[in-house]
Amino acid sequence: MQSVADSLRREGKTIGFVPTMGFLHEAHLSLMRIARPKCDALVVSIFVNPTQFGPNEDFDKYPRDFAQDEIFCQQENVDIIFCPDKNCIYDEPYYTYINVEKFSETMCGLSRPGHFRGVATVVCKLFNIVKPHLAVFGEKDYQQAVIIKQMTKDLNFDIEILTGPIVREPDGLAMSSRNKYLSPEERQKALVLHKSLQLAERLVKEGKNDSDFIHSEIQNLIEQAEGAVIDYIAIVDSKTLEPLKEVQDNTLIALAVKIGQTRLIDNTVIQKAE
Ligand code: AMP
Repeated sequence: MQSVADSLRREGKTIGFVPTMGFLHEAHLSLMRIARPKCDALVVSIFVNPTQFGPNEDFDKYPRDFAQDEIFCQQENVDIIFCPDKNCIYDEPYYTYINVEKFSETMCGLSRPGHFRGVATVVCKLFNIVKPHLAVFGEKDYQQAVIIKQMTKDLNFDIEILTGPIVREPDGLAMSSRNKYLSPEERQKALVLHKSLQLAERLVKEGKNDSDFIHSEIQNLIEQAEGAVIDYIAIVDSKTLEPLKEVQDNTLIALAVKIGQTRLIDNTVIQKAE
């Protein structure tokens, strides 16, 4: 991959990059469609990264379907699918990790210790291997995108980081490879994440800005869904991820909720001008 990237660069071609863990769905394709017109060569990586999974998380059962992923990539005119072996990315002995401080120490970072260290490390390595000019990440993983932007800046990667909006199923559930784990009943209950964010948006539009109030309204709605267990509800500045007492323009409201065994995340950025 590195020598292919080098020769593309020698030919003056721009490289666009969409990192994924595979089991591709419409949201991944939306990121490819953002990158495609902005580059000469589009690279999609498929790598289920072991270092971003905790010991009791779903690394072993994370869904994989390379044949279908390949079809999707062909349909989106992807030039290169980079699908490295685990041992090639983490050649033993392996000792180097990237920690983006502050942003990794809140929200998902609290309930998934080490998760963002794994994410930042693998993205850093993939950047060094794929050598892209631009890379696209999804806003569903909002905190992840903030962390990647900070790492790119801090480590002087000469890469433009773009983000794509959350892609949802017709009923509002944010697309995720993990939705596959949900039983039909859980799938219905999972709608409460998006519904609670819509409720928050509505309340803010009505002029109710107090974060504690919005938090408790979200909490009440989610708790009505039997079997839904809140991991966190964060009402924070979308740039600094610091908690806000009042919801303002560009406030990020982000949730993590367990539906049965499946941990789901969703978020919205409040636009007051709308
Ligand atoms: P994953 O394969 O889950 O690691 O995701 C690969 C990329 O797709 C990441 O940048 C995610 O943020 C993005 N992504 C996943 N689901 C969605 C979604 N529903 N909407 C927007 N982006 C998404």
